[in-house]
Amino acid sequence: MIMEEARNKIVEYGRKMSSDGLTPGTAGNISIFDPQTGYMAISPSGIAYDKTKKEDVVILDLHGNVIDGDKKPSSEHGLHAAFYRTDPEARAVVHTHSMYCTILSCMGEPLRAVHYAIAEAQCSEIPLVEYHTFGTPELADAAARALRKKGRGLILQNHGMCAYGPSIESAYGLALTMEWCAQVQWHCMAAGKMNILTDEQMQVAMEHYKTYGQVRADGTRPQGYNG
Ligand code: 13P
Ligand code: ZN
Repeated sequence: MIMEEARNKIVEYGRKMSSDGLTPGTAGNISIFDPQTGYMAISPSGIAYDKTKKEDVVILDLHGNVIDGDKKPSSEHGLHAAFYRTDPEARAVVHTHSMYCTILSCMGEPLRAVHYAIAEAQCSEIPLVEYHTFGTPELADAAARALRKKGRGLILQNHGMCAYGPSIESAYGLALTMEWCAQVQWHCMAAGKMNILTDEQMQVAMEHYKTYGQVRADGTRPQGYNG
């Protein structure tokens, strides 16, 4: 079975995404990219996370051709491919309809530097991607354009959020952090007062994350509090 480890992780993180309350029902999707083959493994479309088996995960190339799998791939496979095409270091993408990121997206708000933890996305503001119908090439193209402005996260207008990283652990960790920051921002907006950190303050926070936490066995360090 090709990409077996990636398939197992997609099943595992799909279940986590659901049980952590990050996305309702079958909304959202997860992918992992293998730079050696140029293939990505992606969750199947519309199958409950607790019912998804590794055999249901679909392997595609970045042009949308199915390499392996008999289930229909996530309708957002083009959106996921846009991340891997835009950043050669991207290895995993998480897309959710988590509550507070979705509230900001419906307000037409980017995720601002209200709390320094947003530095985990390696930018000082997570951009808002203009609205396009879910699962369309137009949405994938708009996401790719926003990604070129740097940063590892996106808010999709009237839809939800995306996070990516060098591993599924970091992409998932960023999805959790973005949701927490969105919740903080929403409460500040509801209270009518919000202090936004400057670009300079955010640059310093990003530098500090580089030495945060313990060195792992593979020599890397966590770049945030959730991954
Ligand atoms: P899929 O079930 O096809 O992955 O779609 C869910 C979703 O979030 C669409 O944007
Ligand atoms: Zn979606």
